[in-house]
Amino acid sequence: MAVDLHSHSTASDGSEKPAALIGQAIEIGLTALALTDHDTQDGVSDAMVAAQSTDLELIPGTELSLEYDAGGMHLVVLWLEPGPGPLQNRLAELRLGRDQRNEAMAQRLSELGMPLTAQEILEEGGSGSIGRPHIAAIMMRKGYVESIEEAFELWLTSGKPAYIGRPRLSPEEAIQLARSSGGVPILAHPHTLGINRAHEMADLLNRLIPAGLIGLEAFCAGYRRHEREGYADLARRFGLVPAGGSDFHGTYKPGLSLGIGYGDLVVPDSLVDELRSHAGDA
Ligand code: AMP
Ligand code: ZN
Ligand code: FE
Ligand code: FE
Repeated sequence: MAVDLHSHSTASDGSEKPAALIGQAIEIGLTALALTDHDTQDGVSDAMVAAQSTDLELIPGTELSLEYDAGGMHLVVLWLEPGPGPLQNRLAELRLGRDQRNEAMAQRLSELGMPLTAQEILEEGGSGSIGRPHIAAIMMRKGYVESIEEAFELWLTSGKPAYIGRPRLSPEEAIQLARSSGGVPILAHPHTLGINRAHEMADLLNRLIPAGLIGLEAFCAGYRRHEREGYADLARRFGLVPAGGSDFHGTYKPGLSLGIGYGDLVVPDSLVDELRSHAGDA
């Protein structure tokens, strides 16, 4: 049986509503789905309602972007209960930082000859956590780029002309906040860290494990089998639980499906009990 421990809905930069994700998860036979919208848990209540009286376990979560110079470091936090809490309370601040960054990027893009307003970004993003994929979608619609991927490659990633950073938590702080909130912190899609050497990865894990890291994503869409096995082995060698999921975003990541990723992803359901055993360890 399979699960999916990383997904995005309209509450952040996914195109599908939380209830639609639940419907898809049931249709493809998943036994558990984690909703991990960026910096928000606004989708969780609708997802809970949709999953009620079904056999699907809905795992409430979020995904955080962390301070890390070398590359993109993301932390998926599972079993984070919506409501007040140390990490939960910080999410609102992080969303404010996003909104200010988005406004600055609208201005920058306009200066670069691609007129785009903060209001348009708000309309594209809807009520949730708004980010660069929404900006990319507007750029595509206006004909500035051919695809969302091209918008990132030419303009929106770190180092490109329209990139503007936003406030992030340090890895240690985020992991500690997650644990003190009863959540289960997992280092997401480790390839985006930009680490190629085994000793650098070991140094990083030796830094994050004392802070309370529990899991490492190994089952990611786009990984080849040997990469999934390699990261799962790495996790086990460091006493971490391998995790993973599709990182589904609907139309914002074309070609990527819930559960199965690009078609060959299977996240074993046995990992859920193992990960869950660390939930609530505040
Ligand atoms: P933000 O949270 O606004 O900084 O944007 C991060 C989002 O952009 C994440 O959902 C990523 O999946 C997405 N993203 C980052 N780099 C790329 C890329 N090269 N192509 C497509 N999406 C990307
Ligand atoms: Zn996203
Ligand atoms: Fe991510
Ligand atoms: Fe994600």
